[in-house]
Amino acid sequence: APSQVFAPRQNSKGFSMSDTTVLQEVRQHLSQDKQWDAAPIVGGQISEGQRHPRFNPADQGQEIGGLINSTAADVEHALKLADDAVDEWRHTSVAARAEMLERAADLLEKHRDEFLHLLVKEGGKALPDALGEFREAVDYCRFYAMEARRLFIVPISLPGVTGESNELRLIGRGVFVCVAPWNFPLAIFLGQVAAALAAGNTVLAKPSRRTPLVGMRAIQMLLEAGVPGKVLHYLPGESGSLSKLLLGDSRVAGVAFTGSTNAAWTINRQLAARNSQIASLIAETGGINAMIADSSAHVEQLILDVLTSAFNSAGQRCSALRILLVQDDIADAVAHRLGQAMRELKIGNPIQLSSDIGPAIDRSSQRDLNAYIEKMSREAKLIGSTPLPAGTEAGCFVAPHAFEVSLDQLPREEVFGPVLHLARFKGEALEDAVKAVNALGFGLTMGVHTRLDSTVETVRRLAQVGNLYINRNQIGAVVGSQPFGGEGLSGTGFKAGGPHYLLKFASERTFTVNT
Ligand code: GLU
Repeated sequence: APSQVFAPRQNSKGFSMSDTTVLQEVRQHLSQDKQWDAAPIVGGQISEGQRHPRFNPADQGQEIGGLINSTAADVEHALKLADDAVDEWRHTSVAARAEMLERAADLLEKHRDEFLHLLVKEGGKALPDALGEFREAVDYCRFYAMEARRLFIVPISLPGVTGESNELRLIGRGVFVCVAPWNFPLAIFLGQVAAALAAGNTVLAKPSRRTPLVGMRAIQMLLEAGVPGKVLHYLPGESGSLSKLLLGDSRVAGVAFTGSTNAAWTINRQLAARNSQIASLIAETGGINAMIADSSAHVEQLILDVLTSAFNSAGQRCSALRILLVQDDIADAVAHRLGQAMRELKIGNPIQLSSDIGPAIDRSSQRDLNAYIEKMSREAKLIGSTPLPAGTEAGCFVAPHAFEVSLDQLPREEVFGPVLHLARFKGEALEDAVKAVNALGFGLTMGVHTRLDSTVETVRRLAQVGNLYINRNQIGAVVGSQPFGGEGLSGTGFKAGGPHYLLKFASERTFTVNT
C-alpha cells in the first residue's frame, strides 16, 4: 500500500565543516575564556543562592561557570505560578504560541556560536556533533510550532444524528514537567519544552545536573521570544530531591522524560503513588542497540558506519551501536579492519577540530566505563582500541574498545560509552541473531548492512525496534524525517520529531451540540 506523505518544513541553518570563514568565527568564540552561570528561573526571575563551580569535561581544571541549585521554595513557587497560568496559556491562540517558538528558533540561530561553545565546553561534544545537536534544537522549535498549527487549530468534525453536531479538539493538559538528559542538553531539552508549550501546557523544565549552563541559555531564548515568565520555569539541581517535590505533586499533569530505564520506572512509580490525576508519561530511555551485517555487506562502508554509530559522541547516545552481529564468513575480515580503523581515531579536547572523540561527561562516568572495559578485557577477546594520547589526563577521556563475545554473552545492561561488542552468527541463523537482540528487551535502534533483499525483509519483520537503519549508520535521527524513539524497555513513544508526538501532551475534548 502507498505510504501517507508527511512533509514538514525544515530550515535550520547549518554550515559546512569546510566553510573556513564560519569555522574561523566558531573557533574564535571557542578560544574565549567565557563563563556562564545557571540558576533557577521562576516567574521570569533568576534566583540567588550558593554558587557551585562547573568544569569542562575535557579539562577538569578549567572552570566554565557556576550553578545555583533550585530550592524547595523555588519548586513550590514555580508549581503555583504554572498551575495558575494553565487556563490562560491553553487558551492563548495557537498561532501566538507557534510564533513564540519560531522566534526562539531565530534567536538560537542568532546565538549559534555561543551554543556551540557551550555544547563543546559543557557537553564535551566534538564540533560536528555540537553542530548537529544545535540544528536539531532549532528544528524542534520550528517543527512543533508547525505541528501545533496542524493539530490544534481546526477541530475534527464528527458525524452525528440530525440536529446534532460533534467535534473533537485538542487542548493542553496542564502543568508539564520536562526532565532532560545530559547527552543532548540542548536538543532534547528544548524539544521536550517546545512540544509541551506548543500543545498549550505550562512547563517546569529540569535539565540534567551535569549540563545546567546550556539549558539556562535555552530557556532564556524562549523567554526572550515572548513565552511568559509564569508559563515557563527553569529548575536546575539534583534529580533525587527535585523529582520528589515535582512528581509527588498533584498539580502535575504530565512528564516528558529522557534518560535511563531505571529512572523512568522510578518516575512512573512516583506519579502512580499520588492517587490524583493520572499523568501522561512520555519516556525515552536506553537501548542495547545492534547492527547486523551479513556476508553480502560492503565491508568498507560497514566499518565506517560502525565507527560512527559506536564511537561518535564517545558512544554517549542512546541510539549508539553496542552489539555488532557479523555473519561468520566475513567476521575475521571485519574484526581485523575494525581493529585497524580504531587505531586511527583521534581522541582529544573537542576544542581541537582534529578530535574525533571527546571526553565522557564526568569522572564518575569515566570510572564506570573504565571498570567495565577492565572487566571485559579479562573476560573477552579484544578486537581493537584507540590509543589515549598523552596529555589527556586532565579530561574524562575513555579509550574506545571493541571486544568479541558469543551470542550468549551479549551485554544485558546499557553501557553508555565507547564500548562495542562483536558477535558472530552462522549464515542460516539470521533470525536467531535478531531474536537474541529482541530478547534483551530494549527496542531503540538497529542497523543492517546487506545487499540482499531477503536479509532486509527478515530483519524488518522480526526486529522490535523504533528506528531501523539500512546500509547507513544508526545515529543522528533528523527531526521530521526520522521520528525517534523506541519500544519495550526503550520508551513509551510517541516519537520525538514525529507527527504524533504532540498528542501525548494534549487532552482531547469532544463537544456535542444539539442545534
Ligand atoms: N536522537 C539521537 C540520535 O538519533 C539520540 C538521542 C539520545 O541519545 O538520547 O542519535
